[in-house]
Amino acid sequence: MNIATQPDDAQQAHPIVYLKDYQQPTYLVESVSLNISIFSNGTLVNSSLVMKRQAGASLGELVLLGRDLELLEVCVNGQELRPDQYRLDRESLTIFGAPDQCVVDTQVRIHPESNTQLEGLYQAGELFVTQNEPEGFRKITFFPDRPDVLSVFTTRIEADKKYPTLLANGNLIEAGDASDGRHYAIWQDPTKKPSYLFACVVGDLAVLKDSYTTIEGREVSLELYTEAKDLDKCHVGMQALKDSMHWDEQEYGRAYDLDNYMIVAVSQFNMGAMENKGLNIFNTACVLSDPQTTTDPSNFYVKSTIAHEYFHNWTGNRITCRDWFQLCLKEGFTVFRDQSFSETLQSPAVQRIDDVASLKSAQFAEDAGPMSHPPRPDQFVEINNFYTATVYDKGAEIARMIATLLGKQKFRQGTDEYFRRHDGEAVTVEDLLNSLSDGSGVDVRHFLPWYTQAGTPTVTGQGEYDAATQTYRLSLRQSVKPHAKYPNPKPLPIPVSTALFDRATGQVLAEQMLLLDQPEQQFVFEHIAVEPVVSLLRDFSAPVLLDFAYTDHDLAFLVQYETNGFNQWQAAQELLERVLLKGHDAEPYLQAIAQTVPSLAARDALLTARLLDVPSENYLASRIDQDYEPSEMHQRREALLNALAKRLAEYWPTAYADQPIVPYVDSSEAMGRRAWRNVVLSMAFRAGLPEAVQWASEQYQAAVCMTERLGALRALVWNDAAGAAELSVQLLADFEQCFSDEALAIDLWFSVQSGKPTVTVAEIQALLQHPRFDYTTPNRVRSVTSHFAQNPLAVWTVEGVQFYADLTKHLDAKNPVLASRILQALSRWYTLKAPLREQVKAVLKALQQDVSSSSVTETLGNLLQAE
Ligand SMILES: [Zn+2]
Repeated sequence: MNIATQPDDAQQAHPIVYLKDYQQPTYLVESVSLNISIFSNGTLVNSSLVMKRQAGASLGELVLLGRDLELLEVCVNGQELRPDQYRLDRESLTIFGAPDQCVVDTQVRIHPESNTQLEGLYQAGELFVTQNEPEGFRKITFFPDRPDVLSVFTTRIEADKKYPTLLANGNLIEAGDASDGRHYAIWQDPTKKPSYLFACVVGDLAVLKDSYTTIEGREVSLELYTEAKDLDKCHVGMQALKDSMHWDEQEYGRAYDLDNYMIVAVSQFNMGAMENKGLNIFNTACVLSDPQTTTDPSNFYVKSTIAHEYFHNWTGNRITCRDWFQLCLKEGFTVFRDQSFSETLQSPAVQRIDDVASLKSAQFAEDAGPMSHPPRPDQFVEINNFYTATVYDKGAEIARMIATLLGKQKFRQGTDEYFRRHDGEAVTVEDLLNSLSDGSGVDVRHFLPWYTQAGTPTVTGQGEYDAATQTYRLSLRQSVKPHAKYPNPKPLPIPVSTALFDRATGQVLAEQMLLLDQPEQQFVFEHIAVEPVVSLLRDFSAPVLLDFAYTDHDLAFLVQYETNGFNQWQAAQELLERVLLKGHDAEPYLQAIAQTVPSLAARDALLTARLLDVPSENYLASRIDQDYEPSEMHQRREALLNALAKRLAEYWPTAYADQPIVPYVDSSEAMGRRAWRNVVLSMAFRAGLPEAVQWASEQYQAAVCMTERLGALRALVWNDAAGAAELSVQLLADFEQCFSDEALAIDLWFSVQSGKPTVTVAEIQALLQHPRFDYTTPNRVRSVTSHFAQNPLAVWTVEGVQFYADLTKHLDAKNPVLASRILQALSRWYTLKAPLREQVKAVLKALQQDVSSSSVTETLGNLLQAE
């Protein structure tokens, strides 16, 4: 017997992994038989690997990866190995002189019952569940745990009968009683898959069943597993699954390939959801939905997450990544696919606004800070740190640009070729670009630098009208800030969707998709009879910063007349950035909004609600490179919001009265009315309307769904209106009591308090002391930290930063993946104005002595390098 686990040595450096060092695996695994036997004080895992040396691979020993495994036995071709026949270290098991073909059997003991990192197999309450992407499988058994080793898995699970649910990937081929009152199930997955897509679940779960017949005629059993009390919250998810299956058949010609598709809801989960082959595992927050406990945005998120994980069956599972540097190959493409699906569930303009708003606040901010990296990085220490907005959202933007340029039909020809050529393979970004080029007949290989360069490009430009020749000349230039790790950026292909408007009538004069692929280019529009207003990057045709020589009046014109809903919103955002970042006069913005909103609200309430978005303080901060002073920005933004509220003070009562509470409907239109009502309510508070408190109180009591109830509660808690303080306390208590058994609603209760714009660090600390706070449930931790992070005024204080440092230290060993993500809220510390900047630096430096996980160490190191 050997013990692989060694004490974690904080001094040991975490090595850097480079893309250029990639080598194909020495041995492949043709098939795997696993036998997982769960006991209360440990789990035994027997594995039998049929292995074969790969032709053409480098000569090397047979190496299996394993971490925190207690090795009980290792055999090759049935012979138990002597200690001198293998070497065991903290990351791997090396077998000396193994034959080119052999069967390797190991037995290990693991401890899911004490696994708080939520990777590998872990116990969450009364549930045993796996999370293996990216490198969790090596915490279950010894295996060449890398995405380019694909095998057929057969899994036998055995457990006490108090756990009636025994699930793994594929088809159930046998089940029955075992000794000592235990039972077992054997699952076989006929498709080859990498180990990160392995999953198993053991517990006592209820199931919602349905079925779907694929376009190829396959009858698929659909099963959604959850705690019995939540079963009635699974219908939205089930419908979304069927809609996704249909959409992928229609849009990409992709049908599902197994006889069953299972989804399991788990409350303790680090990620949103995981696409394990045929057995998705979901964070409860991303699958359970009920109007009484779920807000509209969360309900919508459930649908798009179900779609995302389902779409991975083709983009991720059947065609997977060769190595983890290629993560954006599966994630970027799949996010683009789920965004396209979501467009069919609400207005495409609003979908685009939401996607771009999140891109700008998360990805642009990331790219402006020390975590900046390309969608396909070429080095990392801890791959868990690269599940980022850049990989996902910028990756999606690249897929979108290619789809935009190719057009629907050619893009489909390109993706058809990708699926035809690479089904069953582990591939690279280059393979995708080659397939898209060859399938469509249009070369898109020049998009590769988008994947390999860091930083958000800026497009600058100006327009010039010549009345004599009736031509409009548009000059555009692209640039990107140099990045230490990725120097010498090349010019990128940037699609610029453009329209020209008649300044007098608001009519469209010309529309064109331009391609800026040189450092500098000119585009000429002819037969333009009047000096136009130009609208660029319609639908955000490329993920760039635009610095165009608009006048504020041009932008105000676009807020009123642009027919592209996204660019209407974008023009308002640009005006706001000028007001908030450059001190421009707010009047053109206020006028344009005041003239647009009442008529737009009658037509499209959802778009109107978005049109009143004001960039978040964090996004604005990401545009400031030095001497950032959070209180100054906060005050400016508050003043602007207050001015907007007061400008329309007489309109709010009509607007509010126009949206009475009606029975709940799950539709885009109804969602828009609810969103708009909540915006109006919060504006009424800002405008100081005396009736606002009364409205909120009545809305809270009469609410038919969580969106209405939470909107009222938030308006009360967030606005220090006269006479509202006592009511806020009372309704917070009422909410807590009403939803005491609803974990996700209690998360909302925490988030309303942690996100309050005037929240103090002391109040945040009090929330952490609350009996309902729980460090072991990431959703609960994030319900405080991610909403608190929206308040730079409190975060950027010595106490605020110390709070983050203490929390990171506390979670470093328990859940390093979560700790590392929380710490990233401090990425832009170096832009702060002195003396705060030096004070924050001292806190971060001190933290270095207190953490040791590779996730946190790498993130902290990156943070401190940025000066
Ligand atoms: Zn994904």
